Amino acid sequence: MTETMTTLEQTLARLAPQLSAFEPGHVWLAGAGPGHTGSLTIDVIAALGQADAVVYDALVDPSILDAARQAELHFMGKRGGKASAAQDDITTLLITLARRGRRVLRLKGGDPYVFGRGGEEALALARSGIPFRILPGVTSAFGALASAGIPATMRGLNKAIILATGHAAGTPDDLDWAALAKTGQPIVVYMGLKTLGSITSALIEGGLAASTPAALIMAATTPGERVLVSTLARLAEDGEAAGFASPALAVFGEIVSMRAELMELERLARSA
Ligand code: SAH
Repeated sequence: MTETMTTLEQTLARLAPQLSAFEPGHVWLAGAGPGHTGSLTIDVIAALGQADAVVYDALVDPSILDAARQAELHFMGKRGGKASAAQDDITTLLITLARRGRRVLRLKGGDPYVFGRGGEEALALARSGIPFRILPGVTSAFGALASAGIPATMRGLNKAIILATGHAAGTPDDLDWAALAKTGQPIVVYMGLKTLGSITSALIEGGLAASTPAALIMAATTPGERVLVSTLARLAEDGEAAGFASPALAVFGEIVSMRAELMELERLARSA
């Protein structure tokens, strides 16, 4: 541990001159990655150490906030079944803190610009004349696929990967799942656990084979990570029976079958 720390400190010290200083009155809109501390970027680590205020939501692992002990903390996520803080309240808080001269770190799970409403927050800051920067993070889809042993792209299997949200599934504002199915490319669905049955039916109606390999990845990269491999037709039912809960991603496509192959090869290598 001590050895790791010394090496980490030395490496960070060598890189530090290349990093930007966090200016008072600025907002940094940052992604904390899918959960595991090792996925934090150096920019985010540096921001945690410099921030006067951190505004974070439910997907951010609170242990990461230990790196920002000097900062005031504002939790803006779901708690005890209550709805998330209203988006307007969040942007108002960011603007107020910045106008008071705070260095404001707005920390979100994954990447701030991927299904995280970071675009809306950036617009609000820009309209109010608040200087801001975006610090990208590892989006949960890529963190989860890596952790589950499923390559996002695999030569011979896919030439694209679709990142979709399931939150509007079954409503008039829904995606055209049939059109996505017709591309034949793998699909990763965020926020799709509650609507999984309607999504899988729409994909099957759209022409995707019921036997298409499918997976659910829950709490990816955290100690509570769980992976379930099934088929398009069975995923919703199997996920429910296995007690899968949010946050989780659904993955549909042949890339899912790589997991078993990689795991088997790993097992053989270990036992050799
Ligand atoms: N900006 C985030 C996504 C926010 S939307 C990102 O880039 O990842 C919230 C959804 O993200 C959740 O409903 C879930 O589908 C997914 N998600 C976030 N973290 C996750 C994790 N550790 N494991 C699995 N899914 C996760």
